[in-house]
Amino acid sequence: MSSTTHRVDSPNRLGEHAVVLGAGMAGLLAARVLSEFYDSVSVIERDRLPDYPCHRRGIPQGRHVHNFYSRGLQVLGELFPGLLEDLARAGAVVVDDGELSNFYVRFGRYEMKRSGKFADPAALSLHMASRPFVEFHLRRRVKALPNVTFLDGHDVVELVTTGDIVNGVRIIRRYNGFLTELDADLVVDAMGRSARTPAFLENLGYERPTENRSVARYKYASQQLSIPEGSITQRLVMFNPGGGKPGGLLLACEHDTWTLAIGQPTDAGEPPTDFAAMLALVEPSLPPAIVEGLRRAHPIGEAVTYHHSAAIWRRYDQMSRFPSSLLVLGDALCSFDPTYGQGMTIAALEALTLRDCLRVGDAQLAQRFFRASAHYIGQTWAANQARSRVTSPTHDRNSMRERLQGWMSRAALNASTRDVVLTERFFRVSNFVDPPSRLQDPALIPRIVWGNLRARFARKRTRAAVVAVTPLPEPLSVRA
Ligand SMILES: Cc1cc2nc3c(=O)[nH]c(=O)nc-3n(C[C@H](O)[C@H](O)[C@H](O)COP(=O)(O)OP(=O)(O)OC[C@H]3O[C@@H](n4cnc5c(N)ncnc54)[C@H](O)[C@@H]3O)c2cc1C
Repeated sequence: MSSTTHRVDSPNRLGEHAVVLGAGMAGLLAARVLSEFYDSVSVIERDRLPDYPCHRRGIPQGRHVHNFYSRGLQVLGELFPGLLEDLARAGAVVVDDGELSNFYVRFGRYEMKRSGKFADPAALSLHMASRPFVEFHLRRRVKALPNVTFLDGHDVVELVTTGDIVNGVRIIRRYNGFLTELDADLVVDAMGRSARTPAFLENLGYERPTENRSVARYKYASQQLSIPEGSITQRLVMFNPGGGKPGGLLLACEHDTWTLAIGQPTDAGEPPTDFAAMLALVEPSLPPAIVEGLRRAHPIGEAVTYHHSAAIWRRYDQMSRFPSSLLVLGDALCSFDPTYGQGMTIAALEALTLRDCLRVGDAQLAQRFFRASAHYIGQTWAANQARSRVTSPTHDRNSMRERLQGWMSRAALNASTRDVVLTERFFRVSNFVDPPSRLQDPALIPRIVWGNLRARFARKRTRAAVVAVTPLPEPLSVRA
C-alpha cells in the first residue's frame, strides 16, 4: 500500500516510512513529530474519521469532559503554529486574562482564592472545548502535512518482525476483510487504553511489561448543557470535596455549550444520568451562585457514563528486552485516573520527548524514550497518589513521611485560599507549567505559615461574632 512520500532533508532523516497505530490524541501528535524524520508517515485507525467534529466509537471517553492543561496547549501551539488561534476562531472558550474569577476550584474543604490576578497570565491560558472539537482541528492540521497519510477503517492485526526488529504491521480493512502488510522503519503504538503491545510482545516471545496500577475510584456521568449567558461567571468549576463525596468538573465549551462531569465513588453505586439528580448530588459541594446558574441550565442530549477508570502504567522502561523499531505512547503506555484530566497533556509532552529522542538518532530509541518519559509520568503518578490520599476518608497514613506530606499539603491548600501567589503556584504545577517540586519551594514556607495564622485568627473572629449576635439562653425557669 503506498503513501505520499517526500524526502525529508538530512540531517534529520531517519528512514523511509513510519507507521502510527491509532489516530487519537497521542497518535496525531506522534505523526506530526515523525513527519520531520521519515519520508512518509501512515496513521492506521479503526474508525472512519469524520470531516467534521463529532463523537466516534473508538473514543468513548470523548463524550466526557476533556480539558487540556496549559502546558499541553503550549505544545499544540509549538507543533502546529496557529492551531490555538484556529480553535479560538472556531469557537473554543479562551481564558487568558489571568483573572481568578474565571475559576472555582475546591479541593477537600479548601476553596482556592477566587479574586485577584495571576502574575503571569500567558503561562496559564486555556482554550476550552469538547474532545471531538479539539481532535477534529488537530486531525485537520495533521492531514494537511504533505507526507502523512491516514488509513482509516483499518484494524491493526499484528506486528511483523525479523528477529528482534519490528519491520512492519499487518492491518485489515474492516468492511471487506482485505489484509495488507505495511513495511516500516518504526512502528508506534498509540491505540489507547486497549493496549495491544503486551499481547504482541508475548506472541513474539518477549515478556509482558510489569504494571503499576491504581484502582478505579470513580464512575463518571457527563451531561452536555446549555446555560443562559451570564448565569455562571466562572469558565471552569472543579470540585473534589473528598470524604467519599462525589466530585466533578463543569467546563465552558465551544458555541455556548457546557459539560458537567460527575465522579461518583465506585462503592456508592451508579452515578445518576438524570440532570435533576446530578444537580442534587453536587449541590452541597458548590457555592449557591453556581448551583443557581446550574438550575437555569438545559440538558443537551442524554447523559453518558464511564466505568473503566483504573490508572495503569506499563513499565516498558523497566524491561530488559524490547524489540527495536517499536514504541508505545499515550494511554497505551500510561492511562491516568481520569479525575485528574491529564492524559492529553501527557501525550503532548511525550510527543516532545519523542522529537528530542529522534533528534539524536534512532539507536536505542525505545529505551531512551521510555526512560525520558518515565521521569514526568512518574512525577505525575506520585503526585496523583498523594492527592488521592489528601481527600481519601479511609487512607491510613502509616509512615511519618506520608503524615508529614499530608499535613504540609493541607497547610498549603489552607493558605492558598487567601493567597494569590500560592494559588498561582498550584495552578502552574497542576497545569504542568512547573514541576511538582515547585510546591516544596522553601521560599513558600513563610507564606504558608502566615496564611494559616490568618485563617486561624479569622476563624476566632467569626466565632466571637457568632457568640456576640447569638441571644443568651433564656433562664431555665422561663423555658420551663
Ligand atoms: C472519562 C474520561 C475523561 C477524561 N478526561 C480527560 C481530560 O479532561 N483531559 C485529558 O487530558 N485527558 C482526559 N482523559 C484521558 C484522555 O482521553 C486520554 O489520555 C487521551 O485520549 C490519550 O490519547 P491516546 O491517543 O493515547 O488514546 P485514544 O485517544 O483513546 O486513541 C486511541 C485510538 O486508537 C484507535 N484504535 C484502538 N485500537 C485499534 C486497532 N486495533 N486498530 C486501529 N485503531 C485502533 C481508537 O479507535 C482511537 O482512535 C479522560 C479519559 C476518560 C476515560
